[in-house]
Amino acid sequence: MPRTPSTPSTRRSRADASPYVRNSSPSKPLRTSTGAQSESISDVDVEPLLRAEVVRARQEAARLKAETAKAKRDLRQTQKDKKKIEEEKKKAVSSAEAAQSASDKFLAAWDIVLACPGCQATMEQPFTLGECGHTFCHSCLRMWFQRCVSRRLERTSNIPQHLKKPPYTAAQLTEIVQQKYLTYVWYTCPLCSKCIDAKPIETRFLKELVMAVSDVFGPITHNLGLDPWADSWIDADRL
Ligand SMILES: [Zn+2]
Ligand SMILES: [Zn+2]
Repeated sequence: MPRTPSTPSTRRSRADASPYVRNSSPSKPLRTSTGAQSESISDVDVEPLLRAEVVRARQEAARLKAETAKAKRDLRQTQKDKKKIEEEKKKAVSSAEAAQSASDKFLAAWDIVLACPGCQATMEQPFTLGECGHTFCHSCLRMWFQRCVSRRLERTSNIPQHLKKPPYTAAQLTEIVQQKYLTYVWYTCPLCSKCIDAKPIETRFLKELVMAVSDVFGPITHNLGLDPWADSWIDADRL
């Protein structure tokens, strides 16, 4: 295909068409193909427009740079905050675990200290045997002492049927005493078998400790009354 020869109008078009290239001879008018005089480049001074555009572009670049810097700062701060929150969370978890561990150890030691040698449960109403120092629940000692009474009664003749087996009431114990079915009961410690001559004494220190943590172990459920041994202890004064 034959190449179209360049004409003067096609050769000038690329460079001269750019609005950013200043005309080297602004006074020379341009003509259109129709021959009519077109607008002079000197009438459209591009330099202020170009400068304004450059200023605007620089301002935009500065704004974007500032926004980018702020976004980076915000991101760093967010990462710092996140790290701090994670560290605080770890500390809180560690602290809670330590507290739980201490609590578990304390309760385990507490259970051992306050465990009744008779029933192995935590004593609600601890009483101590003066002869040997062993401490038991009131209910454990009461049952043991009633057993001591029944063992003595087994060796006695003419015992009414209703008095042969525990549990006894205070009235039944009084009947045993008044009818002289027994004149003596051999009480012992359920743990060491030592002979017990005196009623157990209430261990106030332990009782107050138990009451201090009654929220943990539950409230004491029954009242012992004036004589906690009225249905299980026969002493010389009563005989
Ligand atoms: Zn007990
Ligand atoms: Zn004992």
